[in-house]
Amino acid sequence: ADLAMYRVKRSGGNQVLHFESAMGEPGDRQLLERDLRGALDRQELRLHYQGRYAVRGGTLAGFEALIRWQHPERGLVPPGTFIPVAEDTRMILPIGEWVLREACAQAVRWAFPQRGLGMSVNVSPLQFDLPHFVDTVRAALHATGLPARHLILEITESLVMRDLDRAQSHVTELKALGVQIAMDDFGTGYSSLSMLESLPFDQLKVDRSFTRHLTTDRQPRVTALMSAMIQLAQTLNMTVTVEGVEDDAQRDRLRDLGCDHIQGFLLARPLPPEAAEQLLPAAAPAGDPPTR
Ligand code: C2E
Ligand code: MG
Ligand code: MG
Ligand code: MG
Repeated sequence: ADLAMYRVKRSGGNQVLHFESAMGEPGDRQLLERDLRGALDRQELRLHYQGRYAVRGGTLAGFEALIRWQHPERGLVPPGTFIPVAEDTRMILPIGEWVLREACAQAVRWAFPQRGLGMSVNVSPLQFDLPHFVDTVRAALHATGLPARHLILEITESLVMRDLDRAQSHVTELKALGVQIAMDDFGTGYSSLSMLESLPFDQLKVDRSFTRHLTTDRQPRVTALMSAMIQLAQTLNMTVTVEGVEDDAQRDRLRDLGCDHIQGFLLARPLPPEAAEQLLPAAAPAGDPPTR
């Protein structure tokens, strides 16, 4: 959908691409696709990291790795623009594998086990659907040396709905490895509650579309929904994170509702590694379990 907003034109004889805000045309997409095809090899893909914090005490619980594409002409391209193309072309498979490795490697470089932090990685439905997905995760952990309990895989409701049997067996195997599983964007899909019934998620991430209405005139209804989602998660032994927290009032409200963790611009934006590193707390003695 985001793609239609960009018109890509090839200028003259050189290789400069212009992205213009306009209706899509046939061919535009192919140019973006072609650029994306080499992006991994040209090392244009980057991970930024956004902190997830305990709502009480404000301590860092971990980071979520969020992909960006450093396009040579366009600058930093957000995932909403190119992940759909990567999925349609199945380029998401090598890209997703790279994300997993890089995020795990970063967690080791940042001493997550010693600091008791967790690294959250978004997983595309296409990746998760692969029969050997669990092997890929195992290989990433092995190659980087990250203990499984410091990895959290974020999956979405739409994903899980494709093939529930496979989702169930993958979640079971991943949990046996010690990896944590989070349901991302909760509240926006179609079948959330049956998902929670059939899959033993460790974490629930409430979609940020709810968060801003905590402080608008829709506040009474949204507060009731938030409260119900938080209690639901906690009843099912899940840690609950609310996304998209942008101001103190939202944070205070979520604290009163008993929310565990928050993520949002109020506490930290997604940051390149050098900046995210500044948010790390002092290292604790080795072997502490991650803060959930
Ligand atoms: P998500 O996993 O739900 O990630 C949260 C998104 O909310 C991020 O957008 C983040 O920048 C944004 N966000 C965080 N706090 C705030 C806030 O306070 N206010 C607002 N307005 N936004 C906030 P981003 O980085 O553009 O990523 C968008 C989506 O792209 C992600 O949603 C995720 O579904 C997908 N994505 C990102 N990285 C990857 C990846 O490595 N692989 C896959 N398959 N998908 C990815
Ligand atoms: Mg996510
Ligand atoms: Mg989300
Ligand atoms: Mg999202």
